[in-house]
Amino acid sequence: MSTYVFGHTNPDSDSIVGAISLSYLKNQLGEDCLAARQGKISPETQFILDKFDGKLPLLKTSYAGEKVYIVDTTDLAILPKDILDSTVLGVVDHHKLGDLTTSTPLECWIRPVGCSNTIIKEMYDYHHVEIPADIAGMMMCAILSDTVIFKSPTCTKADTKAVKELAKICGIEDFKALGMEMFLVKSAVEGTSAKDLVMRDYKEFDMGDCKVGVGQLEVVDLSVFDDKKKMLFDEMKRVKEEGGLHSVIVLLTDIVTEGSLLLVVSDDESKVEKAFGKKLENHEVWLEGVLSRKKQVIPFLQPLF
Ligand code: MG
Ligand code: MG
Ligand code: MG
Repeated sequence: MSTYVFGHTNPDSDSIVGAISLSYLKNQLGEDCLAARQGKISPETQFILDKFDGKLPLLKTSYAGEKVYIVDTTDLAILPKDILDSTVLGVVDHHKLGDLTTSTPLECWIRPVGCSNTIIKEMYDYHHVEIPADIAGMMMCAILSDTVIFKSPTCTKADTKAVKELAKICGIEDFKALGMEMFLVKSAVEGTSAKDLVMRDYKEFDMGDCKVGVGQLEVVDLSVFDDKKKMLFDEMKRVKEEGGLHSVIVLLTDIVTEGSLLLVVSDDESKVEKAFGKKLENHEVWLEGVLSRKKQVIPFLQPLF
């Protein structure tokens, strides 16, 4: 019976590529692993798979009775509903420790770096396993995505080192240009439904007794949203009501000017104002220098609940 390797719901490139890169490593080490995913992939991830001939991981959302490795999260809120009925053999992650517990000892690779694939690169090195060029290219793109081409405050020396080494393996000299090409794909929001936009990189967090949903859209120019805000707000209201959430926030992140416009639908906007020390105007506020949900948004909201 195969072991499944997968990341969080609403999978991003790190979760999809992490499933591919970690399952390949484990297979080289003599385990029988299959890459899986919990949902639809984004246009950015499709770009990466197309560029490096990557195979789309298997869609599977139920894991009772299965053996699994988890990448890019340890939060139950974004793991399969029956994850506690599986056997978690290991986790590879770069987020705050979540609420996943296990009934058996597990392999644990958790580091405060910019991307799970940076840690997976370290695992390849640790085990002296060669990374195939196509997998190296995908891992490099996942790291460039998660670190916003090294601009995010989550980016560490380990991430830049990993990208440089992976770039050599896949033979791509100008990796920053490839990163920018990837973010241009990510910025193409025309023709995408409000639902797909809000959900593209959306995570729910348990804060006190409340649930807060935070989505993020990273683009190279915020003007792509000029005529889309109303439909985004309408969709955020729908998500909030349907899920019984306290707040739904969407970060429209401009990776060139480096900051985020927060759109807020909340039972209590003052919590968001307190968190960032700024007043909302028409349910939105610009936060200069904010690129990371994980490091610059969630830790400021959490204490207010
Ligand atoms: Mg992720
Ligand atoms: Mg990640
Ligand atoms: Mg991200």
